[in-house]
Amino acid sequence: MNRTIAIDGPAGAGKSTIAKLLARKLDLIYVDTGAMYRAMAYYFLSHGIAAEDEAAVAAACQDVSVSIVYENGEQQVILNGENVNGVIRTEEVGNMASATSAYPVVREKLVELQRRLAEKTAVVMDGRDIGTCVLPDARVKIYLTASTAARAERRYEELTAKGIACDRDEVERDIRDRDYRDMHRETSPLCQAPDAVLVDSSEMGIDEVVETIYNIAVSK
Ligand code: C5P
Repeated sequence: MNRTIAIDGPAGAGKSTIAKLLARKLDLIYVDTGAMYRAMAYYFLSHGIAAEDEAAVAAACQDVSVSIVYENGEQQVILNGENVNGVIRTEEVGNMASATSAYPVVREKLVELQRRLAEKTAVVMDGRDIGTCVLPDARVKIYLTASTAARAERRYEELTAKGIACDRDEVERDIRDRDYRDMHRETSPLCQAPDAVLVDSSEMGIDEVVETIYNIAVSK
């Protein structure tokens, strides 16, 4: 039986935290597709390629190999043979990923990898275009969102807890910019699939969101 679960939504909605817990609860493999876009972005940054230079990004894509392995159940992204998990979580890489993920050449490469992963095993996959493009036949599709203010607040708390100095308003502006780019790009823009269930986590705790999606999944 197809047990695949697709979770899409904007930045800061809690997708990865929720998807990881849900995968554990349902004994599925968690696939974080944002990490793949971040790995590509890390490559572009470390090779001095500007986000606006689509031709250079396209040329670089031919030199990039991205793959996934699991260590103690945690996804590791391998970029040209090197584990880059430890270096892709910065704001700089996130912004580069947000900009370069708009290019079809970048998306084609990663969508193919994502589909291959889901063919091999049952997954909970999160991203921006999983239910609409990558896995249109997923059995369960969730559109997980929260108000901009709630997402900005969570992001601010997360950065502050890590000791990263930041400005609340700037964090919110950054979230708005990312939403705009993700929702307005030509290729696979972020939107709710017609058959996805909307879950708004603005007023919910983590356990409540996991429980809600778990109930949706088991009732399908
Ligand atoms: O989810 P995360 O913030 O790690 O993703 C980084 C960037 O990758 C996002 O801002 C988004 O633009 C892009 N992305 C995407 N499609 C996906 C996953 C992520 O375009 N399936």
